[in-house]
Amino acid sequence: MAYSKIIVISLLTLLFASVFFQSFEAKFYVLIKRDELIANFKRIFAPSSDESVTTWTGTEIKPKYIFRPESLEDIKDIVRNADEGGKKIRCIGTQIKTIEQALLKNNPPLTFESMTYQNMFSASGVVAVGCHGAKTGGPSVSDLVVKLQIVTGDGKLKEFSNEEDSEEMNVARLNLGLLGVIYSITFRVEPLFNLHAYDIILPLKSWLKPENIKEKFDHSDSLIVIYLPFNQGKSDTSNDEIRIKQFNPELTPIVKGLQWETLKKSIKNLTLIATEALHYRSNIESVQGHDVSFALKADPDFTNVATEFSFLINKIAEYAEQGKFPINVYTLIRMIRASSALLSPVYDNDPNAIYCFLEFSSLKGTRHYPEFFKEITARWISKYQTSPHWAKDWESAPGVKEFLHTKLSDRLARFEKIRAKYDPKKKFFDNETLKKVFNG
Ligand SMILES: Cc1cc2nc3c(=O)[nH]c(=O)nc-3n(C[C@H](O)[C@H](O)[C@H](O)COP(=O)(O)OP(=O)(O)OC[C@H]3O[C@@H](n4cnc5c(N)ncnc54)[C@H](O)[C@@H]3O)c2cc1C
Repeated sequence: MAYSKIIVISLLTLLFASVFFQSFEAKFYVLIKRDELIANFKRIFAPSSDESVTTWTGTEIKPKYIFRPESLEDIKDIVRNADEGGKKIRCIGTQIKTIEQALLKNNPPLTFESMTYQNMFSASGVVAVGCHGAKTGGPSVSDLVVKLQIVTGDGKLKEFSNEEDSEEMNVARLNLGLLGVIYSITFRVEPLFNLHAYDIILPLKSWLKPENIKEKFDHSDSLIVIYLPFNQGKSDTSNDEIRIKQFNPELTPIVKGLQWETLKKSIKNLTLIATEALHYRSNIESVQGHDVSFALKADPDFTNVATEFSFLINKIAEYAEQGKFPINVYTLIRMIRASSALLSPVYDNDPNAIYCFLEFSSLKGTRHYPEFFKEITARWISKYQTSPHWAKDWESAPGVKEFLHTKLSDRLARFEKIRAKYDPKKKFFDNETLKKVFNG
């Protein structure tokens, strides 16, 4: 019974998400000459060559021109006219928040089953780089996509789906912006549900063991294990605590009762709609920092997860003994399911494999961060051949471009075959780091 209900709801919701998303205004910027613009795009808002776009890390991009197309035809025209002089195009899109608000207004209300912990990102940006939330064993956002419409390099609208061609879809669902302008995305969404969101604070040293991680993993809808170094106000971390953030379906029997008695001073215990619960870290975007995240394939009993998270934490303590404090925001782990997207850091032939994102973050300009970053990422790459999250800090990890070129060689070739089919003139390929990963 449950099965047939899900099928009906998901069909309805797919239609809804698809129609609704397409009605949002697409915004993107494109490099193109002013005279061409005047000749060809009179109906498009006149671009300003003085405008710039600033990324999260504070990098200012100053494209020659910025366009705000109002229709699909505008987008097609712009892409076609970028042929002149071999111009490169970068895009931005509708915020997740806008889509979530629309989903909530639907009758019945709908939600994503998993999402990034912020909702001010664009849906196209989050899909293009393969972002993820904290749903235990849940899909990455790219794996929630069932259909994509992209204006490809020839200025034509191409639809990607598993039904059309699953190999092409597995390129499109995490395309790094290299196929063209994402015009619409059809997501699989769910009927709105509640999540019981609560935090537990436990002693770090005694808790961080594989069996404890597994117990939380098995009993949480979503899970984030967070360690803020030096949380007892001392550089000696032996008495530090660890924060376990769990989300569970309301009323679901959970093995929490006993713990709750002893841990009733937990800092949060709220029942929220999923849309709110999943975005629990509001305003973190105001913090300018480094964020590093590499995907470790988890052992079935989570031994390597506990080992590596402990190693990270012990390394922070070791640095502290030398008077160095490279990590001043957080370290955390989130565990999701493998992805079918060819370039995903959690790509796996086994669709049920579990990957753990090992993450750490520091404020911009933190002394000793570069040294720490290099040491840890070199270990993760050489010991486990872990791949980085594309949208985070990875480019200066020792040997990472060469490593990715080798590790991904077969999948890069498959990706490149399809990328070249849809953008042979490389209008959308202007990223020098990615060129090194692709070309060696
Ligand atoms: C504070 C903070 C919290 C974060 N939390 C998470 C998290 O919980 N989980 C996680 O996985 N990541 C997280 N990230 C990473 C973040 O989700 C990514 O950086 C994401 O790409 C940001 O979205 P954006 O809209 O800024 O994308 P952009 O940087 O604008 O775009 C990313 C890529 O997508 C391409 N693109 C965008 N729109 C289009 C389009 N219409 N057509 C074609 N290509 C397009 C761009 O060309 C670019 O290559 C976090 C980052 C920060 C700063």
